[in-house]
Amino acid sequence: MAFIFLLVFFLLFFAYFQWHHNKKLTRLSIRDTLSNSFNRRYVFNYLHKSVDANYSEKNTVSIMVIDIDDFKQVNDKYGHPFGDGVIRTIAEIGNEILRTEDIIGRVGGEEFLCVLPRIDAVQSLHIARRFVNKVNEHKFTTEANHSKIQQVKVTVSIGLSTTSKTTRTSSQLYVQADKALYHAKSSGKNRAIQYQDSMQYANSGNTSKKSITFED
Ligand code: GH3
Ligand code: MG
Ligand code: MG
Repeated sequence: MAFIFLLVFFLLFFAYFQWHHNKKLTRLSIRDTLSNSFNRRYVFNYLHKSVDANYSEKNTVSIMVIDIDDFKQVNDKYGHPFGDGVIRTIAEIGNEILRTEDIIGRVGGEEFLCVLPRIDAVQSLHIARRFVNKVNEHKFTTEANHSKIQQVKVTVSIGLSTTSKTTRTSSQLYVQADKALYHAKSSGKNRAIQYQDSMQYANSGNTSKKSITFED
């Protein structure tokens, strides 16, 4: 009897251990370790599934490409550990303002991509402006062990794009949002701009170069 009890206990313990371990592995494979947002592969897969596999004229998908402004200067002035904290905070702000079906992922050093299913251009611009304002309002401060605690101004620029009759693929959507981001940067930063057909990169003509890759 005692043997059977011990055996059942051992099997249950082993099953729990395996479940916990698998959960941890899954989490590690989809998360970015610095920001705890989703990683590049996950967010582009989600975008691909939401747009390429499920295009619908009625249920539009919007995306936001977010880039921290003058981040090199922030690192140079206050150090990389502080910069890392800024990246984490931007991801947290994103999670605060997004709905449960929206996702935010870190797709580059200081660049994030948000996928917003069933959201039109007007609504997504509204959300992006809230994002920009929240970052403006946030009090970023240097650590107490820094020689003097300082408040640091951090801003972000956001490029937006929404699916339409003529924009039906994730690649098109990403290129458009990136062009809008380029315009947000060149028109003064600290703002959100929606893509328009007239928008081009500065030395345009080779926009097809930007393609989606799924590696981290
Ligand atoms: P812009 O406003 O045009 O975006 O200017 P920027 O300075 O933000 O742009 P740039 O691309 O020149 O610099 C990005 C910087 O981001 C450079 C790099 O050192 C920093 N960076 C990239 N990844 C990380 C990271 O994981 N942690 C920290 N602290 N910095 C990072
Ligand atoms: Mg950048
Ligand atoms: Mg930047």
